Amino acid sequence: MLQPLKVETQEAEDGASALDLARQTAPDLILLDHEMRGMNGIEVLRHLKADPSLAVIPVIFVTGSSEAHVITDCFQSGAADYVHKPCRESELHARVNAALENRRLVDELQWLATHDPLTGLANRTLFIQRLQPLIDSQSEHPEQHFAVLFTDFDRFKRVNDNLGHAMGDEFLREIAARLERGLTQACPDPTHRLAARLGGDEFVVLLEALSDPSQARTIADAILDSLCGTYRVGHLEIAGSASIGVLNSAPSYASAEEMLRDADTAMYEAKHAGRGRCTTFDATMQQRVRDRAALEQDLRRALTRSEFSLVYQPIVSLRTGRTETLEALLRWRHPTRGPIPPSEFIPVAEESGLIVQLGRWSLSEASRQLAEWRHRHPHTQDVGISVNLSRRQLDSPTLARDVAQVLAENGLPPGALHLEVTESEAMHDHATAGQRLQELRDCGIKLDIDDFGTGHSSLACLHRFPVDFLKIDRSFVASISDSSLFASLVDAITQLARTLQIQVVAEGIETPDQLRLLRALGCDFGQGYLLSRPLPPWQVPEFLMEPIAAFPAPLEAPPETASLANSALTPA
Ligand code: C2E
Ligand code: MG
Ligand code: MG
Repeated sequence: MLQPLKVETQEAEDGASALDLARQTAPDLILLDHEMRGMNGIEVLRHLKADPSLAVIPVIFVTGSSEAHVITDCFQSGAADYVHKPCRESELHARVNAALENRRLVDELQWLATHDPLTGLANRTLFIQRLQPLIDSQSEHPEQHFAVLFTDFDRFKRVNDNLGHAMGDEFLREIAARLERGLTQACPDPTHRLAARLGGDEFVVLLEALSDPSQARTIADAILDSLCGTYRVGHLEIAGSASIGVLNSAPSYASAEEMLRDADTAMYEAKHAGRGRCTTFDATMQQRVRDRAALEQDLRRALTRSEFSLVYQPIVSLRTGRTETLEALLRWRHPTRGPIPPSEFIPVAEESGLIVQLGRWSLSEASRQLAEWRHRHPHTQDVGISVNLSRRQLDSPTLARDVAQVLAENGLPPGALHLEVTESEAMHDHATAGQRLQELRDCGIKLDIDDFGTGHSSLACLHRFPVDFLKIDRSFVASISDSSLFASLVDAITQLARTLQIQVVAEGIETPDQLRLLRALGCDFGQGYLLSRPLPPWQVPEFLMEPIAAFPAPLEAPPETASLANSALTPA
């Protein structure tokens, strides 16, 4: 009777063999007779429903009995439907089709509950369902190694924000596909691996039946290889990389959440170490994470308790020796730890997003201070202020408006303010950063590229950015007097900048030798301990009164770049 439905059928002789057959073949539907040798239908049904892997199979009960309690029992035991014997073919077909359709829906729901619809990978629920039993059996079988890899795409948010929703989805699918490809190659047995997407750009991989713990790292490296490289999304080409945290199984873990947490910590360390790498978890990481979390909490509190202050470092014209601008630099005095260097707290502030508030504070405090100097000390009239801008602040669409408002509130002209953006921040994702910078510049604010030479961009990209000043990183300046290579590099930067009408500032001038060379190379401005350390605000008006001690006599005529530069390189 079932043949016209074009279904594949299998028969079992009795209840016990039906249960065996169901376990072996996982059928889509079971037609179960009531009266059988051995176990009767109701008993078989109860066994089926008690086994989680069989419980999902719908059962149509087949009975010749017209007793009411049989039908009640069959539904109470979990049957999907029933038919009376002898039954008509059309009725049987209708009931079978309905049950199969129902089954498809249930399967679909089941899939949705355990998978990520976007990438088709497992979701967190399924991942934990597979991981937890492995953890539970760890104490009995400590020789069975397994591992969790936590993968996070580097700078995904930034790319995603610029792609728009549909392209962002396409990008994620591509990431997932590459991850699967790398994983499949490194770990070919599908029963020994499971990749899942936790959300956003976070993926986790479960590796089972590892021969030894070092194998996890090897597989992680292979996945990393396949994730790094060029992505084609729509008509765009995006250079991508990922960071992977590797965590091996250990008897001390009791829950899947704990393992995910530590794998995440290892991933976080990989990001910290410079992204695009794998890091294996070790116990000292936990302490570092706690330290950072404590620092972040202290930072939040510091904002409300005014523990921050600004110091001001003069930026001096190398032609006249006059201070033209003052760079505002943040200082934090921690109530118990004392002064904490910016190199320690700025990265934490960037990561937590607190940098946005902190940057806003720096800008308004520096503007307020400048207005006060200008108001009280006539000789400070022409000096400008330079404030560092974090990449996160560039994300705000209202940045230019907000900055203009701060200036207006303090009665300052836009030309009095420089904003410093580091090279890598300005150049990474040109589109938004470029647009924000243009908006700022349209307001009349000056833009400086900070730490130039430390990023990955080339000089050739410079013309694409609307900048006024270029600050050559102090690592270049430090090497300038020891190596003619650095001197010619600085020379090349200065010459190119001149063609693009960008002024050059040399950072970190510490010796008279460096100063002499930089002046000879035609560098426009200088900043560094030789000229002045960063000053507390009350020392600034006095500093601006006096000529700078370390500064030699002003140059008379602007230097003839090429000839002077060359002669400067040969010792006098
Ligand atoms: P930066 O913007 O490149 O600032 C210049 C850094 O070089 C300052 O370090 C300054 O004290 C130091 N410096 C100046 N002259 C010399 C020298 O001759 N030799 C040496 N060895 N160092 C010199 P500082 O104050 O520790 O600031 C470090 C970084 O923190 C800054 O680098 C900047 O990127 C960031 N930062 C400081 N204040 C702020 C802020 O308000 N907002 C943001 N987003 N970042 C800030
Ligand atoms: Mg700076
Ligand atoms: Mg700098």
